[in-house]
Amino acid sequence: MHVENNSIAPCANELSHSLNTILLLLDREGIVKQIEAHPPSLFNFPSTHLLGKNWFKTCVPDHTCQNALLAFQKLFDNKTHQLKHQPYPIITSTHKEHRFIWYSLPHFDNKPSMNGIFLVGFDIAQLTLSKHSVDIALQRVTANAQVVLDNAVEAIIRICPQGKVLTFNKSAETMFGYTTKEVLGKSINLLMPTPDREQHDQYIKHYLKTGDKKIIGIDREVLGLRKDGTIFPMELSVSETKIENEHSFTGIIRDISERKDAEEKLRLRDQELQEIRHRIAHMDRLNVMGEMATGIAHELNQPLTAIATYAQASNRLLNNTLKNTNDLSHALMQINEQAQRAGKIIRRLRSIITRQQQVYQRTNINILILETIELTHMDSKIKDITIETQFFTPMPDVELDTIQIQQVLLNLIRNAADAMKHHHETQTKNKKIIIRTVVESHVLRVEVIDNGPGIPSAEKSEIFNPFFTTKNDGMGMGLAICRSILTAHGGELDVNINNKEGTEFYFTLPIHFIN
Ligand code: ADP
Repeated sequence: MHVENNSIAPCANELSHSLNTILLLLDREGIVKQIEAHPPSLFNFPSTHLLGKNWFKTCVPDHTCQNALLAFQKLFDNKTHQLKHQPYPIITSTHKEHRFIWYSLPHFDNKPSMNGIFLVGFDIAQLTLSKHSVDIALQRVTANAQVVLDNAVEAIIRICPQGKVLTFNKSAETMFGYTTKEVLGKSINLLMPTPDREQHDQYIKHYLKTGDKKIIGIDREVLGLRKDGTIFPMELSVSETKIENEHSFTGIIRDISERKDAEEKLRLRDQELQEIRHRIAHMDRLNVMGEMATGIAHELNQPLTAIATYAQASNRLLNNTLKNTNDLSHALMQINEQAQRAGKIIRRLRSIITRQQQVYQRTNINILILETIELTHMDSKIKDITIETQFFTPMPDVELDTIQIQQVLLNLIRNAADAMKHHHETQTKNKKIIIRTVVESHVLRVEVIDNGPGIPSAEKSEIFNPFFTTKNDGMGMGLAICRSILTAHGGELDVNINNKEGTEFYFTLPIHFIN
């Protein structure tokens, strides 16, 4: 709570003519934060000397010091929002003990919880003489509290257990658009949209009956309703006050529309970036598929040629007046089987090419790797390379986007093939890629190892940068895209820098559940 004027001086002036009076602001430990003493000669030093000192240790006689301090600290536990009487003596300039009666009022500063207490003390010996002055002092302290409330940036609203508004500060007026007069005594539901509006009375009843705290003492984000009907997000913290069995609840409210707007803008930007990432990944897939077009055509040609051949044969059998129905049925089965195979290839390609959004599903990565290897048969680059698998079993399922992880695998396999193709030593050796899966404490690791030329150490930090390529026809986007795909999956992609021969890329994926 930001308070511009919470000086206690005005109250003190009011009383200076008639009474020995002390006005104090103490923190939780009893340290003096503000003090006014009247008459100024009440102590035999200027009262400001007490600033920063412990009030109880300095001014309260030893025999009551402990009790006075305990009683003071209890006020914090009670969170009392009203005046309390607590007489104890203090030592004044005459070195005699003067019994003072103390009235207190909680002080808030930037926090919903109390962090200090205003105290006003009157010399009991004189008090009977001046009941009128006490009344004035009390009025002033109350007025002071109002200043604190009115200058708070937060809306502060106090309600009774029936949900009726008891106090409504200036910020609340600005925030909700009602004047205090309009809401005093009305139900607090007025300031809430549905469904809280209908349920709030029940909330309080439930709490008073069961003591089950749903929102008391907890900062919460809820929605508020202004007089003009607009709804806005707000942060609400509620504290409870109980004085002699009389309950009330005080809500401190911050309007967080601006913060929410900023968060929403950030979210939209994130979403935009995500979309760009998907688009680039998609372009990369189109690129790979374009390069694989010859292989794809070939792969499709096989079943289509078979279909045509069997169809012709069936036709011939029909024309020869069905001597052998077994042959015809076999040919028709073949047509069916080959047509299904062609359909499957087309469906798989279509899903790889058209998929833009992430779709997570439980997947066995070993099976996904086998399917990807099958796909590489369409790729002339990879065709003559042996791909060996070393699988961890039984492999737990992981949540992943199959198309994207397939894209990563395909990229790593094609890079390995590229590297081995142009490498003289590997030409003579057997070109081989090993794909290994390992599971270690809730992390799944996939390694793609080739026996190509390896990556020069100077380049190892660069290969993941977009547009870094050493190939004439390279885009340099492959590894950058793969890494972002893995990051989005909560895993990582890297190259093993300790690998002596060839190259070892690996990626990890978190295992969320073991089956
Ligand atoms: P591109 O394949 O278009 O060049 P990438 O981002 O997939 O783009 O790869 C970047 C670079 O990383 C490649 O140009 C190559 O120099 C290097 N690289 C990737 N994989 C390997 C590998 N298995 N062996 C050697 N170098 C590799």
